[in-house]
Amino acid sequence: MARLEANHRQKRMASSPPVFRFAPSPNGRLHLGHAYSALINQRLAARFGGELLLRIEDIDLTRCRREFEQGIHKDLAWLGIDFAPQVRRQSQHFYDYRQALDRLDAMGLIYPCFCSRQEVKEAVRRREVETEIPWPRDPDGAPLYPGTCRDRSMVDAQRHCEAGKPHVLRLAMDRALTRLATGSLLYRLFDETGAERDVVVDPARWGDVVLARKDVPTSYHLSVVVDDTLQGVSHVVRGKDLEAATEIHVLLQRLLGLPTPRYHFHRLLIDETGQKLAKSRLSRSLADLRADGVTPEAIRRQLGFT
Ligand code: GLU
Repeated sequence: MARLEANHRQKRMASSPPVFRFAPSPNGRLHLGHAYSALINQRLAARFGGELLLRIEDIDLTRCRREFEQGIHKDLAWLGIDFAPQVRRQSQHFYDYRQALDRLDAMGLIYPCFCSRQEVKEAVRRREVETEIPWPRDPDGAPLYPGTCRDRSMVDAQRHCEAGKPHVLRLAMDRALTRLATGSLLYRLFDETGAERDVVVDPARWGDVVLARKDVPTSYHLSVVVDDTLQGVSHVVRGKDLEAATEIHVLLQRLLGLPTPRYHFHRLLIDETGQKLAKSRLSRSLADLRADGVTPEAIRRQLGFT
């Protein structure tokens, strides 16, 4: 954690040029949506005189594969996107995420949760039957965690841990917000011309989010916040599908005393059925397009980067 803070101070003092990053997960081949995101990062970094970093978000050790990571490097080089030489691979930095978790733990803001997905679903269903009103959902449409493990005694939680019961670590959202108490939580949103405005966030909408998973000692939210600081990222450019989750990131930055970068959310590409491109729906990969003879110039043109 000391390293996190020192890095932040150093970057602030040096009034360095803007730092952008592209952060794909190697759990499949890149498709046109990734190309669009990488190209817009490249364009904005060039426009604002900044540097562009690559981060490999590979905390999910079961789904991420080396061959996909090699594919990312190949596809980006083919598209003509240059990155600063130091690439951060999240799987090599679990210690950094642990430090951040320890810090939140010392503030009394995280707790172990032993509920399975099925148990959460069942608890929510029971409440809906009892109250006859729909249980609140988070911005992604998932039911808020009903708090079953939040008030478990330390002794009881300890006993479960010692018995080897798998658990996640959740953020106690109410406690976290009470701790901040003063001032609104906000970030600066910028557009492609560089114009900026403040956006006030309401992370309570997410409830007690998971910060460390059962199978992985961290989560997307925690890692992204730690890494953006450690890589000195000043400008985050990513898809609109992550706009709402930014509320959680801003909250974690405030709790951990880390800087909040500026954010820009680009449009998402959709396929002929109107759905956003996704690896899970097997959208055509850049590798397939390349094999079919499509050129990087044609892709740039198609995506509006001429
Ligand atoms: N790894 C995430 C993805 O591939 C992007 C994370 C981010 O830009 O913050 O969707």
